[in-house]
Amino acid sequence: MSLKKHFETEAIRMQSERSQFSEHSTPLYLTSSFVFDDAEDMRASFAEEKDKNLYSRFTNPNTSEFIDKIVQMEGAESGYAFATGMAAIFSTFGALLSSGDHVVSCRSVFGSTHTLFTKYLPKWNIETSYFKVDEVDKIESLIQPNTKILYAETPTNPAVDILDLELLGQIANKHSLLLVIDNCFATPYLQKPIEFGADIVVHSATKLIDGQGRVLGGVAVGKANLMREIYLFSRNSGPAMSPFNAWILSKSLETLAVRVDKHCENALKVAEFLEDHPNVNWVKYPFLKSHPQYDIAKKQMRSGGNIVAFEVKGGIETGRIFLNNIKMCSLSANLGDTRTIVTHPASTTHSKLREDDRLEVSITDGLVRVSVGLEHIEDILNDLGQALKG
Ligand SMILES: *Cc1c(COP(=O)(O)O)cnc(C)c1O
Repeated sequence: MSLKKHFETEAIRMQSERSQFSEHSTPLYLTSSFVFDDAEDMRASFAEEKDKNLYSRFTNPNTSEFIDKIVQMEGAESGYAFATGMAAIFSTFGALLSSGDHVVSCRSVFGSTHTLFTKYLPKWNIETSYFKVDEVDKIESLIQPNTKILYAETPTNPAVDILDLELLGQIANKHSLLLVIDNCFATPYLQKPIEFGADIVVHSATKLIDGQGRVLGGVAVGKANLMREIYLFSRNSGPAMSPFNAWILSKSLETLAVRVDKHCENALKVAEFLEDHPNVNWVKYPFLKSHPQYDIAKKQMRSGGNIVAFEVKGGIETGRIFLNNIKMCSLSANLGDTRTIVTHPASTTHSKLREDDRLEVSITDGLVRVSVGLEHIEDILNDLGQALKG
């Protein structure tokens, strides 16, 4: 009898077959290619009559173990592992879109994803129309006869707004669109977009999936027929994840649930602390009652994630002073690390945008994004508190 195991158990116990050395922990398969018994074995393997590894740009035991776990965790049918999150996102578009197609996307998406929409997809005559996070009622009016993909992230970066996955699923279904969701901020532990109708889920594994700021990685998982297209596109265009990174990331998944639980516990305490602070205008965290989409967050997420957004009183200069006052937390562009990371988008990542363009994606001058880490909560609160007093 085979009982379906829990998320944490699968993350630990799903392993590639043991070799003749009976290793307990999956070894690293640093091999670019694989050998065949004879001409017939080779023919049948290339014809895909056999499930055998041929070449590590296609599959490798380490990348397969990693992606099989994510497929299971997201409730998907199939998947492919990429060198980076952007490789996963670009390959999804490259495989599923054709010249003349149209995309409808939320305006609040990761910066490089937005650059693909504005600078690169138009080279292949693929245009994108945008809705803002508070304009979901406009989505249907943006859909054209040639619209192929509905694209969104939730929670969004950096303002942690929440989009209603159930609503997006219904719209995609009604208009026969492919719903592609970037689930990076939530991880499959907190949120499973496929349950709400997503066709493809993409991730930057660089963030909470690694969780320790070591390696880059990306993932696309979803319906088997679509993933087949994405796999063939990728196997020919070459954005594969390295076996080394897959080996690291597969081990990271073994601790995903405990890490993310602790991240969320710390983040909620940070959000509550900031909400009561006199030098803070407002705080946004999906599991704070004051979050504008609190009810939606509760419906679709297990917990609120590790990103807290807040506004220091006084605008761009006090935002900069706050950052300079930080002693322990890191000033870095990454997120989802064991180390707490603080960023001030208006003076850094989004400084090239005009103020009204920043406001389009909810970035006010005083907005600070905290990626809450796994240090002791008192040390995190002390550092943020002393930096706010400055
Ligand atoms: C970081 C990030 C990406 C890009 O991932 P890389 O691994 O850096 O290529 C995409 N989407 C979101 C939401 C991200 O945070």
